[in-house]
Amino acid sequence: TISICWFRRDLRLEDNAAFYHALKSDYPVLPLFIFDQHILDKFSKDDARVAFIHQTIEKLKQELQKHGADILVKYGKVEKIWPAVLKEYEVKEVYTNHDYEPYARKRDDDVAEYLTSEKIAFKTFKDQVIFEKDEILKSDRTPYTVFTPFYRQWQAKLNDFYTRAYLTKKHFKNLFQTKHLPYPTLQEMGFEQGNLQFPKVDYKNKLDNYAKERDYPALDGTTHIGLHLRFGTLSIRKAVADAIAAKSTVWLSELAWREFYMAILWHFPYAAFDSFKKQYDKIKWRNNETEFKAWCTGNTGYPIVDAGMRQLNQTGWMHNRVRMIVASFLTKHLLIDWRWGETYFAGKLLDYEMASNVGGWQWAAGSGNDAAPYFRVFNPELQTKKFDRELEYIKKWVPEFGTKKYAQPIVEHTLARERILKVFKEALNS
Ligand code: FAD
Repeated sequence: TISICWFRRDLRLEDNAAFYHALKSDYPVLPLFIFDQHILDKFSKDDARVAFIHQTIEKLKQELQKHGADILVKYGKVEKIWPAVLKEYEVKEVYTNHDYEPYARKRDDDVAEYLTSEKIAFKTFKDQVIFEKDEILKSDRTPYTVFTPFYRQWQAKLNDFYTRAYLTKKHFKNLFQTKHLPYPTLQEMGFEQGNLQFPKVDYKNKLDNYAKERDYPALDGTTHIGLHLRFGTLSIRKAVADAIAAKSTVWLSELAWREFYMAILWHFPYAAFDSFKKQYDKIKWRNNETEFKAWCTGNTGYPIVDAGMRQLNQTGWMHNRVRMIVASFLTKHLLIDWRWGETYFAGKLLDYEMASNVGGWQWAAGSGNDAAPYFRVFNPELQTKKFDRELEYIKKWVPEFGTKKYAQPIVEHTLARERILKVFKEALNS
């Protein structure tokens, strides 16, 4: 008789809430990971995130094998995998960490129902955030929809208790002992390795200058930990504790933005697909396919936009300042639906996180959780003057900039600005 700890987006053995509670249970613990076809079938075959998960699990296997244990890895549809697992093992309890995305919530409800019908306890824990669901609410018990007051309460509530690590290692003696278990290769699941580099968790020397440098894309002053927070190869408790220790309040507030958007997604799941402010779905987007393609490939003739898109296409990452600029450009200059941009980012970003991506895109479109008026339109030229004055970032990613080979602007700024103001006004006043 065993307990299972089902790993999903929490791919680490240390400081993991569900794993800790499983290890403290009465039964030996078998870790499990499912390569879920419902999710994977939507990915392109060279998607680097699948390779990242695969190589991370390989490391978990090696670590577990040192303790005579292993992780059971399955590939298929979740609803088919669970009955198969229950046939192989006598399972008494299943432990897992909360996941707040709409698909995951439905999946977990279904699995909970199935396991309960098999008389197996399904125990779930908070792990990927400091505060979740209803922990940060307004005094009338409704969710915050604006960041600043959310953050005020988030900060006021934060103390050592919430950042304390779950000391799992002490309980490794309760791991289920097994011979080495089979592990499907990437190729067997139809995927390739790809050639993107994965950032390391190595941010300590960035925190001191973060507040000063984070807005300048050429400086690369941010930490690149998004991928690790996405897949749980870094614990949020550790990141927050490190932010506090380094007195990096600006970085701390960025980590809180992540939680703010997760809370929004939890309370308003419709906003993953529809505009948070519903009247924005009346906007008559132009959705010109040729212009969209020029944006995707970094050929708009706006150098800061093109630099960002090329950085994204080539590395799977884009600097935050530039994400804001390219998103504003797509939605406002080109009048293309924010969902097109959101989907494109979702396919490319190694650190893709539904809550933050939808949040960032809706912020740019004006339809999201932001008090700024819709007529705020980023001027790419002014943004360049402010944040890439020496054009270092632009020249790195757009080497033909300044030559005849470089694209002509696909839209003129003043014209675009007038057009968007008119179209938005019509939609929002109707
Ligand atoms: P750092 O600046 O070092 O920040 C550390 C961590 O804090 C980040 O890894 C992230 O987890 C969190 N964070 C920082 N800024 C934000 C923010 N504005 N909103 C939410 N979390 C934040 N972030 C994602 O993690 N996934 C996405 O899919 C994503 N899509 C975005 C789309 C748009 C249009 C915009 C404007 C922003 C998006 N962001 C997204 C937020 C932000 O751009 C990235 O988190 C950041 O650039 C990642 O780089 P970093 O890890 O070096 O961040």
